[in-house]
Amino acid sequence: MKAMKNGGRIWDPVSECLGREELELLQFTRLRDTLERVWRSVPCYQQKFRQAGIVPQDVRSLADLSRLPFTTKEDLRLNYPYGMFAVPLREVVRIHSSSGTTGKPTVVGYNRQDLQTWTELVARFMTAAGVTEDDIVHIAFGYGLFTGAFGLHYGAERIGASVIPMSSGNTDKQIMIMQDYRSTVLVSTPSYALTLADRMEKMGIGPESLSLKVGLFGAEPWSEEMRRELETRLGIVATDNFGLSEVMGPGVAGECLYKGGMHLFEDHFIPEIIDPDTGEVLPPGSVGELVITSITKEAFPVVRYRTRDITRLDYTPCSCGRTFVRMAKTMGRTDDMLIIKGVNVFPTQIEEILFQVEGCEPHYLLVVDREGAMDVLEVQVEVNEAIFFDEMKKQRAFVDLLEKRLFSTLGVGARVKLVEPSSMPRHEGKAQRVIDRRKL
Ligand code: ADP
Ligand code: ZN
Repeated sequence: MKAMKNGGRIWDPVSECLGREELELLQFTRLRDTLERVWRSVPCYQQKFRQAGIVPQDVRSLADLSRLPFTTKEDLRLNYPYGMFAVPLREVVRIHSSSGTTGKPTVVGYNRQDLQTWTELVARFMTAAGVTEDDIVHIAFGYGLFTGAFGLHYGAERIGASVIPMSSGNTDKQIMIMQDYRSTVLVSTPSYALTLADRMEKMGIGPESLSLKVGLFGAEPWSEEMRRELETRLGIVATDNFGLSEVMGPGVAGECLYKGGMHLFEDHFIPEIIDPDTGEVLPPGSVGELVITSITKEAFPVVRYRTRDITRLDYTPCSCGRTFVRMAKTMGRTDDMLIIKGVNVFPTQIEEILFQVEGCEPHYLLVVDREGAMDVLEVQVEVNEAIFFDEMKKQRAFVDLLEKRLFSTLGVGARVKLVEPSSMPRHEGKAQRVIDRRKL
């Protein structure tokens, strides 16, 4: 086991610490193989390449990647369900789909080799977050078509940890099992971890009566303030990991214990940051839309897939020794970005502000509407009992304070509405935090 040799801290030290030059050589070889593969086997890519007047042989360096056309969710939908597969179904051993957060789900497939790669990559980020064979990993992602649960499940087994395939829902039972089975690692969405923390508080169960040490959270955007909240309330180190079914599932990128961005596994995926409006590749360090090309996937390769996730890539060295680029916590997807009076607003920015104000509970909902020709953003936030039942004057002052903070950070006004403690829906999977009445 490679992990043992290195004190269990880096799962695959050879690959994860490759020098840039070596890495780029490997990426180029793998990229060319992938392009040949999709050119041969996927009509959609063949057609796209033809339209762009390019054949795989024209790609002579990594820089040539930018000459290739993008692949979008729409392409996958047009080829629903199996049209983008690069191997016959006979070779496919697993089928998953996206959660369908933003429309009709897309279908993806894995052959045996793909499943093995996926397992290795999840083992990498779990190890980076400090998980070892001594851990008891409690998986509270829903098992099913969603890639989260199965991805983490096999990665944890690969490490040699004991896996509890709890699945989502049934919050009281989750807490009982975490207590009784002494789970040390919690795998869930950050919003469900919050639901668990809330429920524990109501039941009078403190973090000290659990054995949790680490949280592996992902599948939705969450702020640094949310991290602090979860770390204190659950008594854990909370780490972020990123993935999407179209590219593989979880295991595309994950944080090490320095928590300075998620190492993106560049020996398997090539990331680019583009301007979402023009499609132009942006210089290193810019904020923009993440585009990913898979370079080892066999059944379902993607070339320049537009994730719609907004982030930034940091190529400076990380103290952990891994050389892979680090992707910043995403601000959210372009689909979730609200345009209020022409100003771009991400829910995570609002989350960050709300969580900084004493008295706000970490539960909120954004409602956007149009009054006449004007966009109106209402921020509904739960507050603690002291504030909710306070005299009108004090409550008004609290609302004013929140509205001022929101305005100064977002650059656009929002109305704040305080709602009663515990009145907002709690989430089991991915949180839905925006209602856009303009689109209804
Ligand atoms: P869907 O697109 O239907 O939600 P997936 O389950 O494949 O389907 O979800 C992938 C998406 O989830 C990503 O594109 C991203 O928007 C979001 N996501 C996953 N992990 C993270 C994370 N750590 N931080 C922010 N967003 C994430
Ligand atoms: Zn690191």
